Amino acid sequence: MAERQFETEAANDVEFWLCLRSLVVIHCANSFSRLKETTNETSQREKCDHATGFFNRVSKALASAGIISVVTSSNAADGSLGINETTSDSAPTPAKIALEEHFVIPETLSASYGALGSPEFQRRLQDIGSSRIAEMDRGGVEVCILSLVGPGIQAIPNVPQAISMARRANDHLAEQIAKNPKRFKGFAALPLQGPQAAAGELTRCVRELGFCGALVNGWSQISTPETILFYDLPQFRDFWATVQQLDVPFYLHPRSAPTREPAYEGHSWLTGSVWGFTSETAIHALRLIGSGLFDQYPRLNVILGHLGEGLPCSIWRIDNRILRTLGDRPKAKLPIGHYLGENFYITTSGNFRTQTLTEVMLEVGSDRILYSVDYPFEDTEIAANWFDHCAISDLDRSKVARTNAQQLFRGLS
Ligand code: ZN
Repeated sequence: MAERQFETEAANDVEFWLCLRSLVVIHCANSFSRLKETTNETSQREKCDHATGFFNRVSKALASAGIISVVTSSNAADGSLGINETTSDSAPTPAKIALEEHFVIPETLSASYGALGSPEFQRRLQDIGSSRIAEMDRGGVEVCILSLVGPGIQAIPNVPQAISMARRANDHLAEQIAKNPKRFKGFAALPLQGPQAAAGELTRCVRELGFCGALVNGWSQISTPETILFYDLPQFRDFWATVQQLDVPFYLHPRSAPTREPAYEGHSWLTGSVWGFTSETAIHALRLIGSGLFDQYPRLNVILGHLGEGLPCSIWRIDNRILRTLGDRPKAKLPIGHYLGENFYITTSGNFRTQTLTEVMLEVGSDRILYSVDYPFEDTEIAANWFDHCAISDLDRSKVARTNAQQLFRGLS
């Protein structure tokens, strides 16, 4: 897919500035990673000076053009911060809208990722009241779109139980939202074990409870824990028709890889958010695209967290290898990158890294990136300290923080 243009205030030749910006990121990233590797103190200092000088010169040029915020490299010597740091010259970030923020109900706590946390963590997960609002205020978040923590409904193989638990979770969330409707919104939990029931529950949640869409925690188990459903399968096409008809986004949230996969045997630490989340969700998204789903329903919007689960960084190679492969090809009519840019939104949840954010911007454009924290698994203030000062233009920051979400979700103004 062709690179998208950034909104800029001063640059006339966007292509030129995009290239220059890329070079800054690449150069600085390379310089700082080289710094980490060296053990020679003198050499390290020289490289640091070199990187710092280059960084200061180019960042000032970009800042003067309105492309990034003014950047300082005072912490570059530690080899880790550098381009994540700015001075206070950037404009204040508008009140943020965050949309990968989780809660739990007592009935799903023991089987959720929250069960691994301390009692205090579990209290935070259950709270949809004053403590959570205080956390939001700490991170400059005005509105949270809340969702049931994973694996949630997706891990209930019994279909009637999954249907009834989804309804229970959604009703609970609606009751809590009603107490603070200006601060909280909701994503529906859905029993995808029954596609028709899931479509009905989504319709109820959107039309009767005022929810913003759905957040589903990856693949669903049905009948037995070993029987797994991905949503590109033919039985889900009518469900997707409902999603498009309702005109609401579908957040494809990760869940752990099945531990029985040989690749993870003996390395259970890889199955969750360290790597399995990314791997499973990226494959699931590619299955949706490759199945031709978005050719059939071109107005679908799917949201991916964690700065795109690695897909933006791999999209050129994916499409290149599809073109050159002698084997099976996807059913989708257009390159995979086309759909990534037209049918997907990407959030910053749990991936507070300027280099990665910039790469995602180059691939899908700043109009399709949304702010998120992944509370309470991530710290609201750490997320805000990064995002409010990372080296992007004030206009891009405003879009990601707020205005993109306002355009995507009805009722957020
Ligand atoms: Zn999450």
